[in-house]
Amino acid sequence: MSLSIYLTGARGSGKTTVGQALAQALGYAFVDTDHHLQQVTQRSVAEIVAAAGWEGFRQRESESLRAVSAPATVIATGGGMVLSEQNRDFMRQQGTVVYLNAEVGTLAARLQAFPHDAQRPTLTGRSIVEEIEQILVERAALYQQTAHHMVNASHPPEQVVQQILNVLSPARG
Ligand code: ADP
Ligand code: MG
Repeated sequence: MSLSIYLTGARGSGKTTVGQALAQALGYAFVDTDHHLQQVTQRSVAEIVAAAGWEGFRQRESESLRAVSAPATVIATGGGMVLSEQNRDFMRQQGTVVYLNAEVGTLAARLQAFPHDAQRPTLTGRSIVEEIEQILVERAALYQQTAHHMVNASHPPEQVVQQILNVLSPARG
């Protein structure tokens, strides 16, 4: 199998961390749509949102998804990538979609331990826990319906990678 593998899930679910390790295990390339977008625009997510609004950001994010999609590539997607039906359909058609599922408390603990990884601007001024909860309520169904496979992303990264290898190719053990 040499299709794209798309990792979806909330901020802090480990898409970048797990994606890099998964790519290494498979001998695949690794790309991150957020990173691609920042390289192309030479702007941070916060700067793009400030200049173009969330709608403009989503548009560019969708373009990044298409630009980075390639065979034998693990693609870590921005947390909001599943909000667009076109993106959901595109990912399912182009490859295998894996949802990194973790509970609010786990996500919050990771983002609080590494605030640098929580780069998105909070528009509301709410606490990080409240914001993550709200986002998961809004997106959980989209993550689930988009995914071919869901894995438990609360485990250490190497175990999450192993779960993904198992669902991609059950015989691999
Ligand atoms: P995402 O790309 O989904 O936003 P990251 O891979 O950037 O998530 O991970 C966010 C933070 O959580 C990082 O500090 C990372 O080291 C940590 N982290 C990621 N996955 C795990 C994991 N499975 N177990 C423990 N910590 C993790
Ligand atoms: Mg990431």
